[in-house]
Amino acid sequence: MSLNVMAESDQFNPAFLQQLKVLRDQALDSQLAYEITESLTTEVGARLAGSPGDAKAVAWAQAKFKELGFDRVMTEPVPLKRWTRGQETARILSPFPHNLAITALGRTHPTPDEGITAEVVHFATLADLQAADKSEVAGKITFISERMVRSQDGSGYGKAVAGRGLTAQVTAAKGGVAAIIRSIGTDNNRTPHTGGARYDKDIPSVPAGAISNPDADLLVNMLKRNKPVTLQLKLTSHWDGDYTSQNVIGDMLGSEKPDEYIVIGCHLDSWDLGTGALDDAAGCGITMAAAKLIHDTIGPLKRTIRVVLWANEEYGISGAIAYHEAHKNELKQHILGGESDLGADKIYALGTRVAESALPTVDTMMSLLKPLDIEYAGNQGSSGADLIPMRRAGMAVFGLKQDASSYFDYHHTANDTLDKINPESMAQNVAAWIVVTALAAEADHDFGFGLSEE
Ligand SMILES: [Zn+2]
Repeated sequence: MSLNVMAESDQFNPAFLQQLKVLRDQALDSQLAYEITESLTTEVGARLAGSPGDAKAVAWAQAKFKELGFDRVMTEPVPLKRWTRGQETARILSPFPHNLAITALGRTHPTPDEGITAEVVHFATLADLQAADKSEVAGKITFISERMVRSQDGSGYGKAVAGRGLTAQVTAAKGGVAAIIRSIGTDNNRTPHTGGARYDKDIPSVPAGAISNPDADLLVNMLKRNKPVTLQLKLTSHWDGDYTSQNVIGDMLGSEKPDEYIVIGCHLDSWDLGTGALDDAAGCGITMAAAKLIHDTIGPLKRTIRVVLWANEEYGISGAIAYHEAHKNELKQHILGGESDLGADKIYALGTRVAESALPTVDTMMSLLKPLDIEYAGNQGSSGADLIPMRRAGMAVFGLKQDASSYFDYHHTANDTLDKINPESMAQNVAAWIVVTALAAEADHDFGFGLSEE
C-alpha cells in the first residue's frame, strides 16, 4: 500500500479538521494527563488486583470520570482468582554467603514455611532448561540468567519473558524444587522485576521468583567457580480465594451514533511494588485526558468515545475477558480500539489493523500526526493486552507506539513511580490520542470487522 500522508479524506468537515489541529497543538501544553496520573499514584498508589488498593482504585476511577464530566460512568463486575504477595527472601548460604534481592513471580505457589534450601543449577536460557535432562534438575533450584535486550520498540521483552512465564512449570516437570530467573528488565539496580507466570491448575508448578540484575550477575560469577552454590529461598505469596473487581467505564456519548464505540483506555490495576505510575496510571491519564479535551473543546462527535479502565491486566487480563463476555452480542458496535500501556515516553509510530476501505481515514490521521514526529508503521498493527479478546473476535485496532527504551528499567519494580514521567512527552501522547480517537469517532464509515490475525 502506498500512503500519501498529505492526503486528507474529504469526508471530514474542514471546520472540524481545523478545530482538531488547534486542539492537537493546545494539548501539547496541557497538564491534564499528568494531573490524573499524579492523582491515581498519590491517592491510591499500588493496586494489585484483589488487594485493598484495587477497591480504592475503582472508587477513584468512578469519582475521577464524574469530576471530568464524562456523560456516563459505569462499572462492570470482573470475577478473578486472587493472588496475594507474602514474604520474599533469598540467601546464598555457600560458598559465598550473600542476600539476593528477590520478588515472587505472580501466580506462583509458596515455599513451605521453613523455606526451601537446595543447590542452584544454571541455564542460560529457557530453551536450555527445556532441553536439560531430568537428572540435572531433580531436587534443585533452577536459575535462568538470560538478560533482556534494550530497544526502542520494547521487543526484547517478548523474547526474554517466556522464561518468566514457563520456568516454574518446566522446573516442576523435571523434578526441580523451585525456580529463579534474572529479572526481565534493562536496569542495573537491585530492584527485582515481578510479573506473571503462567498458571494452569492441572499443571504442576514450583515456587518462583526474579532476582535483580546485579544479583543475577553475582550468582553467575559464583557459579563459574564450579563449586556447588546453595540457596535458601522463602516465598510465601499464594492464591487467596475469589474476588470480584470492576472494569470502570467512562463514556462521552456520540451525537449521531451513541451506540457505536471508539474504545480507548488503560489498565487500572498495577503490580504492588511501586505506585504503578508508568504501568499503567500513565495510560489512564493519557486516554482520560484525550476524551475530556475532545469533549470540552470540540464537543460531542458522531460516535461515543468509551474509555475503559481495565481490571486485572497484570495476572490474567480478567477485565478484558469479562468485558468481551458481557458485550458478546454487540461486538460489532465496537468500531475501533486502542490501549495505552507502555509508559509515557513519546509516541513515534501509529500501527493499525483496519479494513483497506478505512485506509483513507488513516491517511488523514497521519497528516495530523506527522507534526508530532509520528510515522506510519503499517496495517499489521496490534494493540494492548486488554484488547486481545476483542481483536480476536474481529474488532479493528490501532497502536500508538511509545518509545520503550527506558520503560523496562522500571517496569514491575519498586521504582515505577511518578518521577519517571516527563510531562512534555506525556502531553505529546495526549495530542496523538486526540487525533486518532476524534477522527475515528467522527468518520462516516466503520473500520472493518472480522479482520484476519495475519
Ligand atoms: Zn501494563
